[in-house]
Amino acid sequence: MKKLKRKLSSSRLIIIAAVLLAAYLVSILAVTNVGQTRLKESQQRELNLKVQSYTSMLEYFFNVTNDELTNLSSDKSMLTYFANLASGMSMQYGLGASLFNLNRELNRLIYNTEINQQSVYQRLVLVGYDGTVIADTAKNQGTRFDRVNMPHIREQSLTIRVVKEDDKYPYIQLVKRVGFAGKPVAFLVADLNREVIVSQLTAQEHVDSRSRMDLITADGDIFIWDSLTTEPQSDEKNELANNIFFEMEIENTPFKLRSWFEPVNEKDIFTSGWFIAGLSFLAVPVVFGLFYTFMINNANVILRTKFEESHKQRRILSTQNQLLIEEVEKRKASEQELAYQASHDALTGLPNRNCGNDRLEQELVRAKRSNTNVLVMFIDLDNFKQINDTLGHSAGDQVLMQSTARLLDSIRDTDVLARLGGDEFLLVIPELNNLDSATYLAARVLSLFDDPFIWKNQELFISTSIGMSVYPQDGNNVQQLLASADTAMYRAKQDGRNAFSFYNAAMSADLQRTLDLDGRLRQALARDELEIYYQPIIELASNQIIGAEALMRWHDTEFGFISPDEFIPLAEKNGLIHLLGEFAINKACMQAAEWQKIRPLHIAINFSSVQFRHCDKLFEQINAGLMQSGLPAHKLDIEITESLLFNHNDEVVSLLNKLQAMGMQLSIDDFGTGYSALSYLQKFPFDKLKIDRAFLQNMHESDSDRELVNAIIAMAKALNLKVVAEGIEDQWHADYLRSMHCEYGQGYFYSKPVPAKEFEALLHQYKEDWCR
Ligand code: C2E
Ligand code: MG
Ligand code: MG
Repeated sequence: MKKLKRKLSSSRLIIIAAVLLAAYLVSILAVTNVGQTRLKESQQRELNLKVQSYTSMLEYFFNVTNDELTNLSSDKSMLTYFANLASGMSMQYGLGASLFNLNRELNRLIYNTEINQQSVYQRLVLVGYDGTVIADTAKNQGTRFDRVNMPHIREQSLTIRVVKEDDKYPYIQLVKRVGFAGKPVAFLVADLNREVIVSQLTAQEHVDSRSRMDLITADGDIFIWDSLTTEPQSDEKNELANNIFFEMEIENTPFKLRSWFEPVNEKDIFTSGWFIAGLSFLAVPVVFGLFYTFMINNANVILRTKFEESHKQRRILSTQNQLLIEEVEKRKASEQELAYQASHDALTGLPNRNCGNDRLEQELVRAKRSNTNVLVMFIDLDNFKQINDTLGHSAGDQVLMQSTARLLDSIRDTDVLARLGGDEFLLVIPELNNLDSATYLAARVLSLFDDPFIWKNQELFISTSIGMSVYPQDGNNVQQLLASADTAMYRAKQDGRNAFSFYNAAMSADLQRTLDLDGRLRQALARDELEIYYQPIIELASNQIIGAEALMRWHDTEFGFISPDEFIPLAEKNGLIHLLGEFAINKACMQAAEWQKIRPLHIAINFSSVQFRHCDKLFEQINAGLMQSGLPAHKLDIEITESLLFNHNDEVVSLLNKLQAMGMQLSIDDFGTGYSALSYLQKFPFDKLKIDRAFLQNMHESDSDRELVNAIIAMAKALNLKVVAEGIEDQWHADYLRSMHCEYGQGYFYSKPVPAKEFEALLHQYKEDWCR
C-alpha cells in the first residue's frame, strides 16, 4: 500500500490527470470535429432537400399555372368568344358580351388565384394571333402586343420566359397558346407576380438564413433572395465562393434555381460552439481543479518542503540544541568536576585543604553564634612516607583510602573530615562538650589504626599522631587553630608517635625551636660539629665489653646538647638523615676498625628506616664505610627498628639479606615499643634482639614488665636470637637479666655513651663494679 502510495505521488497524479485532461480535450475536439463534419453533411443534405423542395414547389407552381392557363384557354368564355368571333358576331351583339365574360374570367383568375394572399398573376392578356390585344386585365396598356417577342410560342405547351423591360424589374411571363377549332387563335399571356415566386422560394428562409437564391434563364436572372452577401456586387463572387452552392433545374421551365447557403462552421455552428463552450466550461472546473490540485500540491510540496526543511532545521536545531545542552552539561559537569576537583581530593574524595578550611570557617561562624567549642584535630599518619617510598605510591594510596574509610566510619555526619595533603587529615568536631570528650575522640581515632592495613596480601602497620586545638581557647580563626593543632601534632610525633596531644602555648615555642634546630643541624653537619659517642655493650656472662653502640651527639653552641631523640626525627623529616647516617657509618666503622687492635669488638650502628628508602645508596654507604675503615663486615651490627619491618618492601629484605650474607649482624632495636610482631622476627634474618629500656625501667616493681621481659627473652631464644637488654641502670637489672640468660646488656650501669677517647679508656680498664 505504501509502495503504491509512494508510486502515486501527488506530482505523478497531476501528470496523469494532465494527460487525461489533454486526452479529454483532444477527444472533445475530435468528437466536435466529427460532429461538425456530420453537421455539415447533414446541412448539405438538408439544404439539398430544401432546394429540391423549392424546385419541386416551383415545378408544381408552374404546372398549376399551366393548368390554370390551359383551363382558361379552353374556358367556356374563351371558346364562346372565339366562337362568336368566328361567327362574325359583332361587338355590340354577342361578341361584346362574350368578351365581357372573357374579361371577367381573366380578372377572376387574377383575383381568385392567390397564394398566401398574394395574387399569382399580375396581368393577364389575351392577345390575338395577329398581335391585337383582345383582353387585358391591366387597363390602358395598349391594344397591340408584340408578337415578335413570342415567335417560338407556337406549341400548345406553356412557354415561360423572363421579360426584361428597360425600366422595369425583370419578371416571368407565361404564354399559353389558345386554340379554337384546331387552330391557334390567340395567346394567353400571364405576367406572374414575382413576389409569389419569391415567397414560394423563400418559404423556409428568413433573415438569419444566410442564403441567396437566383432564378437563372437564358434571358436573364431573377433575383429571389439574398441574406448572405454583404459586400458590393463586385466582390460577390468571392463572397459566395465559400458557401454551399446548388444549381437545380426546374423541370418543364427554362429556370435553374441557383442557391447559396452559408455552411455551418466552427464560428457559426452555434450548437457546436456552445457544445465546445459547454465542454470547455465543463473542462474549466477540471482545469481549475487540476490547477488547484497543482497549486495545493505545489503548496503541499512547498509546505512539505518547508515542513521537511523546517523539520530538518528543527532536527538540526534540536541536534545542535542537544549538542549545546550536552556541551553545556559537559561544561557544567566539567566545571562541577573542576569545582569538585578544586575543592576535593581526587584520591579519597574528601574535601581538600581549601575546602576543609572553608568548612572549618563555617563551623567557627556557627560556634561563634551558638557559643560552642570546636575541636580541630590534625591527624598525621606515622611512617607514611616510608610506605610510599618503600612500597610505592599504590600502597600509599591504598593506606590513605583505607584510612579515610576508617575515619569516615567513625565520625558523625556533622563532623568534617578533610585531607590537608600527603598523610595529613583534618577532623573538625563541632559542639565539643569538654576536653574529656576530645581525649576520648582522639583515642578512638588512634585505635582506628590498631588493625593493620592490607595491601597485596601484606599487612601494613600504620599509626597516627594527632594534634588538637580547641576553639576558642587555642585560636580565634582557622589559621590559628590549624597552626595550633599542627604544633600539637608535631609534639605527638616527638613524643614517640601513635599518640595525641593538645595544643598549649609552650608548644609554639617548641615549634620555633624545631624550626631553629632544623637550620642549625644543617650547619652542624656542614661544620662537622656532630660527634659519635659510644656506649659499651657488655656480655653479661663475662662482664666484658664485646661491642659498642655508636650514638650520635650534637652539642649546639646556642642550644647546647640536643638529644638524638630530637634531632634524628628532625633529620628524618628534612632528609639530612642520609648524610647523618653516612657520617655515623664512616665514623663508627673507622673507630671500630681502630679498636679492633685493642679488642675485637662489634660496633652497632643505628639505622633509621628512612635510610632504607634508598637501599642502593645505603648499601654503598655501608660498603664504603667498611672498605674505607677496613672493618670486617662481621664486626658491624646493623640496628634497625620495628618500623622498618612493618611496611617493608622486597628491596629492604634483599638488602638485609645481602648485608647479612656479607657477615654483618642484624639487630632489632627497641623491641617491644612497636608492634613486636613475631612474624617479622621469623621472616627477617635477625641475629640480635634489643629489649627497649622502657621495659627495664619498671621491672623492679612491675611484675608484668618483668614477665614481659621474660617472655621476650624466651621468644628470642626460641627464635635463636641473642638478646641485648638496653637501659641496664643498676646491678639488679644486670643480675636479673643475667639470671634470665640474657646474653648482652647496655646501660648507664656500665657506661653512658661516651666519646671515642673515653670509650677507648673503658676498653683498657677493667671495671670492678660491673661484676659482683
Ligand atoms: P637507641 O638506639 O635505643 O640507643 C640507646 C639509647 O638509650 C641511647 O640514647 C642511650 O643513651 C640510651 N641509654 C642507654 N643506656 C641507658 C640507660 O641505662 N638509661 C637511660 N635512661 N638511657 C640509656 P640516645 O643516645 O639519646 O639515643 C637515642 C636514640 O637515638 C637511639 O636509641 C637511636 O635510636 C637514636 N640514635 C642515636 N644515634 C643515632 C644515629 O647515629 N643514627 C640513628 N639513626 N639513630 C641514632
Ligand atoms: Mg640503638
Ligand atoms: Mg634502643
